[in-house]
Amino acid sequence: MLKFLKQIGDYAKESVQAARYIGQGLAVTFDHMQRRPITVQYPYERLIPSERFRGRIHFEFDKCIACEVCVRVCPINLPVVDWEFDKPSKKKKLNHYSIDFGVCIFCGNCVEYCPTNCLSMTEEYDLCTYDRHELNYDNVALGRLPYKVTQDPMVTPLRELVYLPKGVLDPHDLPADAKRAGMLPEEIVKQEEQTAQ
Ligand code: SF4
Ligand code: SF4
Repeated sequence: MLKFLKQIGDYAKESVQAARYIGQGLAVTFDHMQRRPITVQYPYERLIPSERFRGRIHFEFDKCIACEVCVRVCPINLPVVDWEFDKPSKKKKLNHYSIDFGVCIFCGNCVEYCPTNCLSMTEEYDLCTYDRHELNYDNVALGRLPYKVTQDPMVTPLRELVYLPKGVLDPHDLPADAKRAGMLPEEIVKQEEQTAQ
């Protein structure tokens, strides 16, 4: 009789435990039903990077004065500035400029300190290649106009999930031309002018 009662007790204990595990599993399921969808069908859909995203560096050859400040402020002395002294004009003449994005850590120091603003960070993040040596961009590759997710007719741009407006749970619910997160520099200037008035 005692053995039979013990079996019933064990059975009841296991049933309660199983019910608790099922409850925990369902709690996770219901919790996820309240969350925003995070799947992006890359490469057909791409997230729009935020305004201060540090992607591939853009370089303007004509503005560079070969001062090598970018090399000195780079934590790994990465930019290669190949110049020669031009005797008639008594100025440095830039021959080649390159940055190896296989090594660059995208810290933005070179962009920050360049005295002529010939370097800028773009929102281009898709730099994948089969050969890492192809990541060594020369001045021609660096001078390519930056790629913009919003201007590529092949992809559907999606707002970064954390920047969705209040009440919007799915980035597909926003039109492609919806205002981007953050303000553009000209918008900040305009806002400051209005505040000063
Ligand atoms: S800091 Fe700017 S101007 Fe000077 S060498 Fe580098 S890219 Fe050229
Ligand atoms: S982003 Fe940073 S690591 Fe890359 S080249 Fe500029 S200073 Fe060097």
